[in-house]
Amino acid sequence: MTKIPADPSFRIKSLPPEITSKLQKEVKGQVMVDSASRGRYATDASIYQQFPLAVLVPESAEDIEAGLAIAKESGIPVLARGGGTSQCGQTTGAALVIDNSKFFRNILSSDLADAEKATIEVEPGMVLDHLNTFLKPHGLWYPVDVSTGAQATIGGMAGNNSCGSRSIAYGNMVHNVLGIDAWLANGQLAHFGSYDGAVGEAKVLGDFVKGLVDHLKPEIEAHWPKVMRRVAGYNLDVFHPQSELPYTLDNSVNLSHLLVGSEGTLAFFKSLKLKLSRLPKHKVLGVVNFASFYKAMDSAQHIVRLGPTAVELVDRTMIDLSRNNPAFRKTIETALVDANAKTVDAILLVEFSGDEHAPLLQKLKELDTLMSDLGLPNSVVMLPDPAMQKNLWEVRKAGLNIMMSLKGDGKPVSFIEDCAVPLEHLANYTQALTEVFSKHGTRGTWYAHASVGTLHVRPILDMRRDGALKMRAIAEEASELVRKYKGAFSGEHGDGLCRGEWISWQFGPKITEALAQIKYQFDPSNLFNPGKIVNPPKMDDASYFRYSPSYTVIPVRPKLDWSAWNVQSNPVTEAITAAGSEGDPAQGLAKAIDMCNNNGHCRKFDADVMCPSYRITRNEKDLTRGRANTLRLAMSGQLVMNGNDVPPAHLPLATQAVKEVMDLCVSCKGCKRECPTGVDMAKMKIEFLAQYKEHFGHTLRDRLVAHLPRYAPMISKVPGLPFLLNLRNHIPLLAKIQEWVTGISAKRSLPIWKSKHFWNQAPLPFMAAEELAKHDKRVVLFADTFNAYFENENLQSALSLLKKAGYAVHVAQPPKNQGEQKPFCCGRTYLAAGMVGEAKSRLSALINHLAPYAKGGIAIVGLEPSCLFTLRDEALSMGLGQSAQVVSEHAQLLEEFLAKELQAQRFAPTFKEATQPILLHGHCHQKAFAAVSPALELLKLIPNANPQLIESSCCGMAGSFGYEVEHIEASKQMAELSLLPSIRKQPNALVVADGTSCRHQIADGASREAMHIVRVLEGHLDS
Ligand SMILES: Cc1cc2nc3c(=O)[nH]c(=O)nc-3n(C[C@H](O)[C@H](O)[C@H](O)COP(=O)(O)OP(=O)(O)OC[C@H]3O[C@@H](n4cnc5c(N)ncnc54)[C@H](O)[C@@H]3O)c2cc1C
Ligand code: SF4
Ligand code: SF4
Repeated sequence: MTKIPADPSFRIKSLPPEITSKLQKEVKGQVMVDSASRGRYATDASIYQQFPLAVLVPESAEDIEAGLAIAKESGIPVLARGGGTSQCGQTTGAALVIDNSKFFRNILSSDLADAEKATIEVEPGMVLDHLNTFLKPHGLWYPVDVSTGAQATIGGMAGNNSCGSRSIAYGNMVHNVLGIDAWLANGQLAHFGSYDGAVGEAKVLGDFVKGLVDHLKPEIEAHWPKVMRRVAGYNLDVFHPQSELPYTLDNSVNLSHLLVGSEGTLAFFKSLKLKLSRLPKHKVLGVVNFASFYKAMDSAQHIVRLGPTAVELVDRTMIDLSRNNPAFRKTIETALVDANAKTVDAILLVEFSGDEHAPLLQKLKELDTLMSDLGLPNSVVMLPDPAMQKNLWEVRKAGLNIMMSLKGDGKPVSFIEDCAVPLEHLANYTQALTEVFSKHGTRGTWYAHASVGTLHVRPILDMRRDGALKMRAIAEEASELVRKYKGAFSGEHGDGLCRGEWISWQFGPKITEALAQIKYQFDPSNLFNPGKIVNPPKMDDASYFRYSPSYTVIPVRPKLDWSAWNVQSNPVTEAITAAGSEGDPAQGLAKAIDMCNNNGHCRKFDADVMCPSYRITRNEKDLTRGRANTLRLAMSGQLVMNGNDVPPAHLPLATQAVKEVMDLCVSCKGCKRECPTGVDMAKMKIEFLAQYKEHFGHTLRDRLVAHLPRYAPMISKVPGLPFLLNLRNHIPLLAKIQEWVTGISAKRSLPIWKSKHFWNQAPLPFMAAEELAKHDKRVVLFADTFNAYFENENLQSALSLLKKAGYAVHVAQPPKNQGEQKPFCCGRTYLAAGMVGEAKSRLSALINHLAPYAKGGIAIVGLEPSCLFTLRDEALSMGLGQSAQVVSEHAQLLEEFLAKELQAQRFAPTFKEATQPILLHGHCHQKAFAAVSPALELLKLIPNANPQLIESSCCGMAGSFGYEVEHIEASKQMAELSLLPSIRKQPNALVVADGTSCRHQIADGASREAMHIVRVLEGHLDS
């Protein structure tokens, strides 16, 4: 038996300081050894956690070379990392983690002239979607389309031998890699490509593997699964092919295929040469609706005969979860024969692609006929429209994440989720496994690649209780089924910590011994990712678990109400216990944080909002996932604090380590909507600020920002004071002095004070709730501090528009007969400073005033998204009871209200023709609450306006963030990601933006005046 040296990390528990210094001296990139940074790299999308010894973010190949040399010399293991989205724990390890994803992601060379032979060479940190964006104009793509394409790196995909939805047509990673240059354990660089042309170390290693295979042919034939989706172990069958899809077109041997799927255990990839494919010009989708899951599974073997490029399953649970998710509801309903029917048990997404559209439409007809022949007439929804297909694929891709949105400690756990079986057995296999689940008191949600017999299923288990026991029992029974049906236990996501022990089960002792010999030959000192593939631990060794029965949470009384997360869900019925009932020592806060399952979806750059801070820095700490991990570690006492950063026991978040990760979070709420599990970091930032400021105190700037609603009324009352304050915008020295004293950047202009504002103009309409209710068309207008004192014209336009449209309006304001009182305020500025108590008292007064109107069914409209949505969102987390709930249900942006009224034919404006095209920028809270489309809908009513939505993330101003001296540069970078360039590209367009901060950022950065939508609508009224 080959004796692999012990995992060196057992000898080294932390990086000795002299090695840290050496690393820091010899590499240009960042070296991190503090527990928070290491903790952020301790997990991937699996159930496991192992703290790295240190993290290196290399800036160049030289940095990696230096890191590898130091690690080798010091006996420290090395773990290569891309997006860290692996599901089996292969990207966790007590090692020097080297993160390629920030800098090591360039295109090195390409040959794109002939589409049939096109190739490209990239560094391993290149993200799949970024590569495909580059290739698209050339009519090419890299077709291993994993669901995590926006995060997965080519290095990580090769490390795992990843497979996409279209593997039936294009194969797995191994079928699409042509060569790999990699550093070996001895520090040498070797080229792995065609075996025939191999030289040097690669040839020696190739010959060694061939020698092993020559003796193992009968074993390989007997034990090797014949399915295409087998990713366990090393691909030693390159020398004796077993897969239904050959590794190479000409059956030659390519040595890079030995490295594909090796999970960082054999070598460290420096560059990868990839085979590209022609991008099909057309795609069509047929969605087959099934009333029986078994029938869906049984149909897959017939459907693949039509030659689809993908057949993907979405089951009933996922259909229902999508229906309940505002981001996905509309899309999933387009896929159903009857959008309201509850009888659909599964759908299969059947895609055909090619260069001509007509034959594809014919394929859809054939699918329809086939389904009729199989006894299911009229079961196919045809989606020839690319936009609809794209949306549906997004829902399918988000499938696992949607499932993960289950609240409580029971979560879908990944350990048998990608067993692959031959298609003719798929129905029986899934049925038998479903019975196994129910025997163990759980249930699984099925989805994914029906075309290749790899169905994802994750039984819901509670790893903090009896999850490990059930995991073992289910895995044992599943393995018997896989053996019975001659399948592969590890069919897509790799081995890692979870499936390592099943390698010997799958291949038998002789092949397992051969794998150990290969590891030893490549890596005699066990430098690379020890304990994966060879000598793995047991899958249920609790010392590797992120959550184990010994997991503890620091008891804390949070500042906000988190009880909605303090629940458990029944794994079978999905019933959720009452809010606050489950005894989380942190009253739901810890469980809300634990919703992050590390899937990495927040590491995206192209679409939507999440996460603007990561988009500008590419640092794990500036990412929603990095933040959630840091909070989790803080709440469970896993951060090792240095002497002066120890938080008080009742304020575990009051540390510099947490402050550091929260620093660039702009509270945009992008994650609240786009994180598939609904991690709400903006709310967590309020909780953090409240704890942190309680411990460290508020700064002068905090107070200036927070109390704005309090002092704004006074300023206008002192004659000449607004003028004097505004001088600061014209006299640089004053701005500089203010910067020194308060930390508000001198480079920013400040909003302009006015002596005439909303509250001291002509009397504003006031009507008690009962009186207002008598009017057929009625509404309450909430005037926020920003619009009231700085942009009064917006509120005036709102009043005028509503009046012209025939609405009776009540402006929310304290009754005059109660003496002079401060105008109402939503508490937003207090929340931004972590003053939860103040915010609560201001909100409470406002809610008490609004509740009678809301209870009478009257809409409460506002103009400023961040203020209005505080009523809809944060107000519910302050213990303000039923009144807050009813107000939240009636609070809406003016355009949401008008769009609904339009549909109800109660608002029928006629607009003048626009003289300029319109560009709309959605405030990020507006996007988080899906309130951008009503704005677009209304703007489209203006003839000739052709409103276009700017595809932008957060504008970067984010309340006071963009004014702060330490954040102004980050703020500008966020604006420059897409917002300002899009505006500059259209110099003639009228820019519409609802957020006061957004308008300010646009004025500062693009020198263009953006307008609130209400002014645009009112200005175009034809009367
Ligand atoms: C929601 C979700 C959906 C998923 N869907 C799919 C899917 O459709 N298909 C699929 O196949 N997988 C899927 N996965 C798994 C995972 O996303 C893929 O395996 C992905 O390709 C991993 O890429 P990564 O950059 O995150 O790799 P990482 O997790 O960072 O690394 C993966 C492995 O590669 C090794 N590695 C990374 N860089 C190098 C290097 N330079 N040299 C040597 N080894 C290296 C690592 O050590 C590790 O062992 C999914 C995961 C999630 C969470
Ligand atoms: S924050 Fe959300 S999107 Fe990001 S890794 Fe966690 S669960 Fe995934
Ligand atoms: S609120 Fe915005 S900036 Fe903060 S973590 Fe979420 S997406 Fe990122």
